[in-house]
Amino acid sequence: MLTPKYILLAFILLLNSVPVFSQNNFGIVIHGGAGTILKKNMTPEKEKAYKAKLEEAIREGHTILKEGGSSVEAIEATLNILEDSPLFNAGKGAVFTAEGKNELDASIMEGKTLQVGAVAGVTTVKNPISLARKVMENSPHVLLAREGAEQFAKEQGLTLVAPSYFHTEQRMKSLKKVKEAEKDKKGKDGKTGFYDADIQDTKFGTVGCVALDKQGNLAAGTSTGGMTNKKWGRIGDSPIIGAGTYANNKTCAISSTGWGEYFIRGVVAYDISALMEYKGLSLKAATEEVIQKKLTQLGGTGGIVAIDKEGNVSMEFNTAGMYRASMDKEGKLYIGIYEE
Ligand code: ASP
Repeated sequence: MLTPKYILLAFILLLNSVPVFSQNNFGIVIHGGAGTILKKNMTPEKEKAYKAKLEEAIREGHTILKEGGSSVEAIEATLNILEDSPLFNAGKGAVFTAEGKNELDASIMEGKTLQVGAVAGVTTVKNPISLARKVMENSPHVLLAREGAEQFAKEQGLTLVAPSYFHTEQRMKSLKKVKEAEKDKKGKDGKTGFYDADIQDTKFGTVGCVALDKQGNLAAGTSTGGMTNKKWGRIGDSPIIGAGTYANNKTCAISSTGWGEYFIRGVVAYDISALMEYKGLSLKAATEEVIQKKLTQLGGTGGIVAIDKEGNVSMEFNTAGMYRASMDKEGKLYIGIYEE
């Protein structure tokens, strides 16, 4: 008999079987680096400039997703804007190595296929995230480094620039500051060249983006100049899949920022996904567990942005601040810098 209870049950079953309800969900989250970002050290102009650039970038990605574009397309376009800005430690604003060079790293991952592409130590590629995408889509490999990666960029027709394109006054000042501290042995550890929070702050500022598209596909991308005063061809977590970047349609997409050595040791991005996949944790619980407990206990600093297959987002960090923004399918924009 068609009692109201059965009608309601039939209606619920019908709702769940209509794919359009889940397919229309989409969202995007970005970061512009984590560190000792304190309001007292920020001028209103600087804050405005950061927020404006974060908004410009995330709106670009959001529009692509809204129009039915893929999460990978949205990530590339969003990160290209941040790479072209001198405000962030990626592309144009990349930090200097100990030798006064700019060596850039990036990676991208597609959650549907688990395809990845990454590049490390490139010095002439204007947009390393675009090169990472080319590695993913047009090469049989997953990680290319240095001259070889540059040769591939040339063959793929990407924009190449003179290494001097990446030189900025601001980053040169940071290098000098870190070198001074190194000389004075002001740091906690004379061996590694890493110093107190004040100095560390001048080292961070990577950019990252995670997105869920209308097809239900997740993706993540990260681009960086690495850490100021890095030596001996040092590569951080940003081009390392599972540490700086990870995406899996079964769970979530993650991009990391912070002290890369710790993110590699903690396998941070993959660990978040694994906690969801194998232990059934929610995105929030998994990101809190890995950032606030595991990373913190290791002694690492930084944060992540993440989005799951339902469009839930997380922006978790254990530093004083993290440049970040998110936009949901309704176009609701959030921008944050400090802890809240
Ligand atoms: N994670 C980057 C690295 O260690 C730095 C950053 O996020 O700012 O290379």
